[in-house]
Amino acid sequence: MRMAYDLRHKDWYAWMKENNQPAFRADQMMDWLYQKRVSSFADMSNLPKKMRETLSEQFRLEPLKTLTQQTSSDGTIKFLFALHDGHAIETVLMRHNYGISVCVTTQVGCRVGCTFCASTLGGLKRNLTAGEIVAQVMKAQIALDEIGEERVKSIVIMGIGEPFENYEATLQFLRIMNEEHGLHIGQRHITVSTSGIVPAIYRFADEKLQVGLAISLHAPNQELRKSLMPVSYRHPLSELMEACHYYIETTGRRLTFEYLLIKDRNDQDQHAHQLGQLLSNLNCYVNLIPINTVVERDMERTPRNQIFQFQRIVESYGIKATIRREHGTDIDAACGQLRAKHLDKKSEQPS
Ligand code: SAH
Ligand code: SF4
Repeated sequence: MRMAYDLRHKDWYAWMKENNQPAFRADQMMDWLYQKRVSSFADMSNLPKKMRETLSEQFRLEPLKTLTQQTSSDGTIKFLFALHDGHAIETVLMRHNYGISVCVTTQVGCRVGCTFCASTLGGLKRNLTAGEIVAQVMKAQIALDEIGEERVKSIVIMGIGEPFENYEATLQFLRIMNEEHGLHIGQRHITVSTSGIVPAIYRFADEKLQVGLAISLHAPNQELRKSLMPVSYRHPLSELMEACHYYIETTGRRLTFEYLLIKDRNDQDQHAHQLGQLLSNLNCYVNLIPINTVVERDMERTPRNQIFQFQRIVESYGIKATIRREHGTDIDAACGQLRAKHLDKKSEQPS
């Protein structure tokens, strides 16, 4: 069954036409979904009763069930949601000085297999639909509505999954978020992060969107990158860098590189120098991320001094490098950790 959140304004328009309804009903539908944010077709009081019945036969409106909702001391809210088929996913709401952002999941699990990541531990179960990604933002917004708070300002596609291995749904999600009759979140306020699926980077560049792109680099050379991210066998660093150049030339936009700092693996001075050289002629900035320790992985955090030293070296190449502020570390806010715990608990239960 399709989800109401899978459709764009123009899709509602077409649906209304097929069902012999006037065009303004599409506006009403968008208003109920994205402004009034109701969770049942029955509540859409200005739509004819018969039509509300037809809608509930054809569409699912509330696709996510909240399993847990944890708020950390810094106001970060971490949601664990169940999809209609029982799979669990995570969504995180973060507060910044520039407003509230939501981090969404695009797949149930991930098949990319990065060695430091909890999301990939059980492999890939399935892709999310665009509507299931939209629903995460709506759930977060409805949670904010309940405590009388502001609107979601920005979105990062950095939750569980590799968005560029679920390309169509991710693009449809971007369009729905951007819709004038929807939440109308500006493309510049959305960032998508990829582990480096090269053909998709070319495709994304050619879409000529204003959406930000972040590349999870995590290593400054092919050998090291292969040992941390098996995706580098499929898409070697040299090809990834060519795609990055293409993206910057085609879109005129600046790229973000994410670089996890893992103690004694990729955090030495020589790595910082290599990174500086690799990126020195690119219009980009670097986001340094101290790794969140994942129990299943034997990897530790870089000591503070070395984090700053790493940053200084990278910046000596004329590249802006920031150290990511952490959100909700007291509530397992690293990608996939809450879900991993949830799966563990389930497997401990007798079936
Ligand atoms: N699949 C995409 C987007 C989701 S992962 C990607 O890899 O870019 C989002 C970010 O979280 C990535 O930069 C990823 O490398 C990072 N990440 C994964 N495991 C982490 C961990 N244990 N600690 C900190 N960041 C982690
Ligand atoms: Fe997948 Fe991203 Fe995790 Fe790598 S870091 S396994 S691509 S979710």
